[in-house]
Amino acid sequence: MEIEQLKRKNFFMPDATRGAVRNLTTKQLEETGTEAIVVNTLHLLIHPGPNIVFKLGGIKKMMGWKGLVLTDSGGFQVFSLIHSGKWKGKVHSNGATFKSPKEGNTYELTPESTIDIQMKIGSDVMVTLDDCRDSVITRKEAEISVERTIEWAKRGKEHFEKKYGGRRKTGKLLTSVVQGAKYLDLREKCAKELVKVGFDGYNFGGYVVDNNGDLVLDEMKTVIENVPKDTIRYTMGVGKPEDIIAANKLGYNLFDTVLVTRNARHGTLYTSEGVVKIDNSSMALDKGPVDPNCSCECCTNYTRAYLHHMFKAGEATAQTLATIHNLTYYQSLIKELNSSVIEE
Ligand SMILES: [Zn+2]
Repeated sequence: MEIEQLKRKNFFMPDATRGAVRNLTTKQLEETGTEAIVVNTLHLLIHPGPNIVFKLGGIKKMMGWKGLVLTDSGGFQVFSLIHSGKWKGKVHSNGATFKSPKEGNTYELTPESTIDIQMKIGSDVMVTLDDCRDSVITRKEAEISVERTIEWAKRGKEHFEKKYGGRRKTGKLLTSVVQGAKYLDLREKCAKELVKVGFDGYNFGGYVVDNNGDLVLDEMKTVIENVPKDTIRYTMGVGKPEDIIAANKLGYNLFDTVLVTRNARHGTLYTSEGVVKIDNSSMALDKGPVDPNCSCECCTNYTRAYLHHMFKAGEATAQTLATIHNLTYYQSLIKELNSSVIEE
């Protein structure tokens, strides 16, 4: 898979949080039609640590994964853990200092260190550190967040170029994050300033849904209107199939959500006939496949009744088959979006 494709085609990237999509082997993951994955920088920073990932040849070698890998900056997670009081730490003008509750080690996440960590993990696409905040913030807070996000993105890019030779030497892409919360003029300012610095992609940062669970379409529209088309346009955390379609209509092309795999593990399956709850008693004698229009390993070999039984019995294979199905469903949705791009 050529890396530049990430700017042109649509991709759904499952979360291989710690270097594995839960319950799946890398081969099973490939068979769902997945071409790119997201791994979690914070989780890998804490265990096994970027130096070990590097010594083992990078995350792709460790996983035996031939597709593309995107790493986040680690910021979103650390900041929300600190803001919610779950982790001890401090967000400051230079990033964040925090303690992992398990090992008790102290870590420093700065615009430069996140690049170093992501380089060691060995992803294809990296994300600069951004100042992400709670879902509802004042204008003053949003202004500070935008200032810092621009500053940190500049520092991240400078570090990537000076220390590693940037895109030219590494072949990796560097993307930034657009903040500004609900303040559309701040979203616009943030996007325009980042475009001036120049990145391979501009990700929609902050919260993609409001309190009612609806996409923040005005914010998403403002961002996409102010970034170039031939770049990565990633909406982090979108989402439900209908949300992916809506975001794609606006112009976004990269998607990820934990929902697909998490729901699979809880027996909630996406199908061409709507959502199926496999542990529902109505499934106990259903001899049909999960989705008659799906050609995944689960749908071609097993009945809803069998999957229902395995879920009830607590068999681990049930979660594997459900995850295979949900991912295959999402990847066929993306395929459809890509074929309509080609037809235009
Ligand atoms: Zn299926």
